Amino acid sequence: MQNICLLGATGSIGSSTLDLISQHPDRFRLISAAANESVERMVEICHEFQPERIVMGSEKARDAVAQACPNLSIQFDYDTTAMTEIASESNVDQVVAAIVGFAGLTSTLAAIRAGKRVLLANKESLVTAGKLFMDEVAKHDVTLMPIDSEHNAIYQCLPQNESGAIKRSVDKILLTASGGPFRSFSNEQMLSVTPEQACKHPNWSMGRKISVDSASMMNKGLELIEACWLFDVEPDDIEVVIHPQSIIHSMVSYDDGSVIAQMGNPDMKVPIAYGMTWPERITTQVEPLDLFEIAQLDFSKPDLEKFPNLRLAADAWYIGGTAMASLNAANEVAVDAFLNKRIGFLDIAKINTEVLEQTAVFPVTDLEAVFGADKTARQKANDVINSKAFL
Ligand code: NAD
Ligand code: MG
Repeated sequence: MQNICLLGATGSIGSSTLDLISQHPDRFRLISAAANESVERMVEICHEFQPERIVMGSEKARDAVAQACPNLSIQFDYDTTAMTEIASESNVDQVVAAIVGFAGLTSTLAAIRAGKRVLLANKESLVTAGKLFMDEVAKHDVTLMPIDSEHNAIYQCLPQNESGAIKRSVDKILLTASGGPFRSFSNEQMLSVTPEQACKHPNWSMGRKISVDSASMMNKGLELIEACWLFDVEPDDIEVVIHPQSIIHSMVSYDDGSVIAQMGNPDMKVPIAYGMTWPERITTQVEPLDLFEIAQLDFSKPDLEKFPNLRLAADAWYIGGTAMASLNAANEVAVDAFLNKRIGFLDIAKINTEVLEQTAVFPVTDLEAVFGADKTARQKANDVINSKAFL
């Protein structure tokens, strides 16, 4: 029996994880869960799964959940400190890091430092604190399972248990991307798209922030950096391949001319389940792939003129240090402003460019450097938005 701590329980990854826990009650138990403000959903989770501890983002949300669960023996807390506590508690076997954004960094790191098996969805934590994050993974001998679908696919396609094998026999990582809902839109059409259109992803149902990132290709940029840290490669070792059907979740191309791909219907339950039971596999109730129905798979190169965020991410990697934290922070602020209809869709990349160009870069010597860069870049992004300097 594996005890699961689920950080970001009320979100899209959270609900896929809970579905798997329900399907396999003999293998998994939800022991603790955290979320920000989604009171109603958390109350449902409390009644259905009866975990030992719940942590919410604020005192108000905590009180509201607790009041709705008077007969359950659950400890209710709030704030980041309590989230780090549940992520590192001794009775936890696995931590699913599924909080969205930089807000997930502290609790994800706490899980790593406590030596838990970590299922990483929260790509922003790895993007912003990359080297420190991976150093902690090595130091605490942590099993870090990428559950971002592409990275999970790459993990499955890479040689297993052969240290150094990546450099020896791998030619390239082929990171697939659906291209998002605006893949075939002109710049003019993208000028006036709404948050609702951006959140309507053609293949995946996801939270609002990652949906906008997918539409702007920033998600692929963050994933490029994520892959660099996870697999010890550089952006030049990775080719982004637009594959609109999202059936191939990524590929690895080897020196001998072999290309290994991982395929399946697009459903996050597959990579999450793999992370939960690796090296075993379990059933997920995801529809088997029907290749005759799919019939055709398409591939093309990304358009970096139309989607500059992808190039910005590679730039930030090569600049190094806190540049990745700055770019991520700018993007979080810009996406939030877009979702709140304060800026247009194409302004997101302009704000990201402006902040990356204008923010000083420091080496990532400690976590303070990362938090400092995040704060400065958020301030800068807000200044740019308020002054409309990007217009
Ligand atoms: P979501 O918006 O659906 O859910 C986010 C969760 O994080 C919610 O439970 C929310 O309450 C919680 N949260 C937000 N801010 C918080 C805070 N300050 N403190 C504590 N909890 C907080 O997002 P999602 O789509 O589930 O994505 C979660 C993460 O997984 C993101 O980093 C995303 O990039 C990554 N990811 C998601 C998918 C997907 O298919 N949804 C795929 C790959 C990677
Ligand atoms: Mg992904």
